[in-house]
Amino acid sequence: MKKIAIIGGGAAGLSAAIYALRSGAEVTLFEQFGLGGMVANIDKIENYPSYSSVEGWKLASDMSSQAKALGLKTVRQRVVSLQKSDMGFTIITDKGRYEFPAAVVATGTSHNKLGIEDKFVGHGVSYCATCDGAFFRGQAVAVVGSGRAAVSEATYLADLCAAVFLVSPEAELSADSKAIEELFARPNVNVMYKHTVSEILGDEQVSAIKTFGNGATQTLNVSALFVATGAAPVSDFVHIDGLAKSRGYLVVDGRCETTVKGLFAAGDVTDGSLKQIVTACADGAKAGSFAAAYSATVNR
Ligand SMILES: Cc1cc2nc3c(=O)[nH]c(=O)nc-3n(C[C@H](O)[C@H](O)[C@H](O)COP(=O)(O)OP(=O)(O)OC[C@H]3O[C@@H](n4cnc5c(N)ncnc54)[C@H](O)[C@@H]3O)c2cc1C
Repeated sequence: MKKIAIIGGGAAGLSAAIYALRSGAEVTLFEQFGLGGMVANIDKIENYPSYSSVEGWKLASDMSSQAKALGLKTVRQRVVSLQKSDMGFTIITDKGRYEFPAAVVATGTSHNKLGIEDKFVGHGVSYCATCDGAFFRGQAVAVVGSGRAAVSEATYLADLCAAVFLVSPEAELSADSKAIEELFARPNVNVMYKHTVSEILGDEQVSAIKTFGNGATQTLNVSALFVATGAAPVSDFVHIDGLAKSRGYLVVDGRCETTVKGLFAAGDVTDGSLKQIVTACADGAKAGSFAAAYSATVNR
């Protein structure tokens, strides 16, 4: 019997599950939260083939339903360690210990922090505009970041909030030109290039932020700060000799196999270049298929 574990239930993990299940494997997917991963939190997706526009929760729900209908078994637990064992791989979660002949790591990335916001997280500081933007409807808010996520968060918030300050540490925004065009079409967005957030003010709730740029500090009266300053791969729970990482990202070959035999990886956690839903799905398809095939060779 082919038997594999998948860690992470985002686009990459669910695609791996769909391909492995369709090849006849028994698949156990470990996910710490609900299925869908980052996709579930995106407001609108306009670059996933076959949908000119789809809401993130809808795409996530369709992917999850497809995998469940094929017989996916999910374990709602956080994986704290993945190790090599005589049986293949040992997965240790916050609640138990499991053995599998082959595994796929699809744990994505986690948000970078500014280092000054801990006290205000959940009190005006957020890492997800789609999740929390509605709390600040009609108010002034700020977003910090220069990349695709910052542009997309600011655009989303501009349709809800009275004013959006996009505090960009860089001299320009790095997102695709269509996304930048959409941002600038909103009259209530003010982009502050080469500025950083130096302080967050407020008693229990954010009431203002201090920014620094062009040699001057200024205070912006905002009710919320959305942090979109990039992300780091979630791979530190994998403890295996010989596993190659590049800046924490798992190095994979053309079959999405890591440098450890039988261990595959897919999506944002890998060293692949384009971090998108469609590439996460493509990785997942390869990782799920080849992990299932590998498990058949060792699990007689
Ligand atoms: C604001 C924003 C907008 C975006 N917009 C678009 C867009 O329009 N189009 C597009 O193509 N891409 C977009 N992206 C990028 C896209 O969302 C990602 O590239 C893609 O979703 C990555 O999928 P993944 O499965 O690799 O990772 P994730 O979706 O991050 O899934 C990883 C899963 O692993 C789980 N996990 C992590 N650690 C553990 C653990 N230890 N134990 C158990 N479970 C664990 C997490 O809970 C999560 O569910 C956007 C990203 C952001 C931040």
